[in-house]
Amino acid sequence: MDKRILVVEDEPSLAEVVSLYLKRAGYQVQTASNGKQAISFLEKQIPDFVILDIMLPEMDGLSLTRWLRDRSDVPIIMVTARREEIDRIAGLEMGADDYVVKPFSPQELVSRVRAVLRRTGRDQAGAESDRALSFDGLAIDPRTRVVTVKESEVDLTAKEFDMLYLLAHYPKQVFTRDQLLERVWGGAEYIDPGTVTVHVRRLREKIEEDPSNPKHLLTVWGVGYKFEP
Ligand code: CA
Repeated sequence: MDKRILVVEDEPSLAEVVSLYLKRAGYQVQTASNGKQAISFLEKQIPDFVILDIMLPEMDGLSLTRWLRDRSDVPIIMVTARREEIDRIAGLEMGADDYVVKPFSPQELVSRVRAVLRRTGRDQAGAESDRALSFDGLAIDPRTRVVTVKESEVDLTAKEFDMLYLLAHYPKQVFTRDQLLERVWGGAEYIDPGTVTVHVRRLREKIEEDPSNPKHLLTVWGVGYKFEP
């Protein structure tokens, strides 16, 4: 699963170029243009990484770091202007993992993100989360992207595989349609929410013994779907 990075930056052109470089490096990127918007995203879901401008409208980067550190140890890189050395020190004291000084090259920022992920061991955590799963006749291997049912290989599309792996990776956890759209399709706005329903139906036809009476891919009425091991 790609790492999700939240970029909090009020200068639209900078936010855009930073997201572009991060996306090219294989990360999923969400941007917020002020502290309040960042909090509304973070209250829903803590990403795998946060890049935070110190000088922000509504709520500054330092307060936001303090808010985040009360809730999570997600890695944080702060972005500061050259003259704000005092903020830089405060940011690190408040628990930011690293900082970059404006103007910076986007490529430099990507390298810093990788370095922080390495240092905090999050890249290995990622590798660990790529483990193969197996449940009573159903096996899912994310490295080869092969799914077998009672030892015979099942042909899944890329999105069917991603959705099955996500659900099976968190057994019994209920995912809403929106969460599945966000995690499997990257939250693309042009995707019809009915897409999820269609994919679940096809997956059931492929992996369930009796698709009309599924044992693994269960509907949680009015909420979404979950995987039952
Ligand atoms: Ca700013």
